[in-house]
Amino acid sequence: MTTVAAYAAPAAKAPLERTTVERRPVGEFDVLIDIKFAGICHSDIHQVHDGWGSSVFPMVPGHEIAGVVAETGPGVTRFAVGDRVGVGCMVDSCRECENCRAGLEQYCLRGNTLTYNALDKNGEPTYGGYSHRIVVDENFTVRIPDGLSLDVAAPLLCAGITTYSPLRHWNAGPGKKVAVVGMGGLGHMGVKIAHALGAEVTVLSQSLRKKDDGLRLGADHYYATADATTFEKLRGTFDIILSTVSAPLQLDAYLSLLRTDGALVNVGAPEEPVSLNLFSLLNGRRTLAGSGIGGIRETQEMLDFCAEHGLGAEIELIGASEINEAYERVLDSDVRYRFVIDTATI
Ligand code: NAP
Ligand code: ZN
Ligand code: ZN
Repeated sequence: MTTVAAYAAPAAKAPLERTTVERRPVGEFDVLIDIKFAGICHSDIHQVHDGWGSSVFPMVPGHEIAGVVAETGPGVTRFAVGDRVGVGCMVDSCRECENCRAGLEQYCLRGNTLTYNALDKNGEPTYGGYSHRIVVDENFTVRIPDGLSLDVAAPLLCAGITTYSPLRHWNAGPGKKVAVVGMGGLGHMGVKIAHALGAEVTVLSQSLRKKDDGLRLGADHYYATADATTFEKLRGTFDIILSTVSAPLQLDAYLSLLRTDGALVNVGAPEEPVSLNLFSLLNGRRTLAGSGIGGIRETQEMLDFCAEHGLGAEIELIGASEINEAYERVLDSDVRYRFVIDTATI
């Protein structure tokens, strides 16, 4: 075991503070990664606040990890010391079920192992990326292409794949009108990726505060949802609506913005349930769907796509002592557009 520095929440809603955690010895198929940067996802905050229930403390959050391989186990074939790598939301899965075999480890039928706030196959707690080092199986490690610097690549490991996967699955592309709800960490990557896929992109944000940024990142249109006329103007417009909102949403209002056969795909994970009038789906044969992160193969595909199109995240780089303040700003929808921790400051 190796002792490494980390930032952890000692209890639900408690401020994060510096501590140490133990990392397992490097096993046959493991890589030891020197973490350089870790993104702050709103899911970190939901879990530190125990908003989804069953949180385990102390918790070291962080599932947007970018770093460099420092050591490899004897059986490792895909990575060498010095490689630039990333780790996202999962560090293991059963690898045998129908979904794992199809590259959908995020939907592993036996339950995958999340990067933090989970127990691994040996019953040991997992600790995430707000830390100096991590040991991960090479099969759950991805390569960060040379064209992407590590700081702007880190958020792609969750915000990137969580938007790329549904946009691809629901065929966002030329001739398709895509709305992205929420201009935060996921939302701003959704805008960039949908634009790069060739779709006509609209941002639906609470206000027009971030309009200039939205248009600069690739949106063609930008509307404030606080303005009720937005919903009248845009009725029946979109093929795909991707909601990235972290709070419960008025689904019926957003479903009314879909064209016939359109789909509202929700990736937001609010802490409370939402209500739905089923007539919102009957009218126009509309679909309400959800999507969770993405598989390992698709995460690599997304990183390669982002490198090819020059898409990194828009980030505010912070030191570890600023994590608690950053959480407050995320909760205030005041993130532009992902906080990334320089882990050398931990
Ligand atoms: P974020 O950076 O905080 O962005 C969320 C955005 O939603 C905000 O910037 C804000 O955008 C909008 N918003 C917030 N509160 C709102 C409210 N009450 N009403 C309307 N809009 C509101 O969060 P994130 O990191 O992108 O994560 C977003 C959600 O996705 C979280 O719930 C997270 O847990 C979840 N998530 C899910 C997956 C998955 O696999 N499905 C993966 C990662 C994260 P505007 O200011 O533009 O309105
Ligand atoms: Zn996340
Ligand atoms: Zn499985």
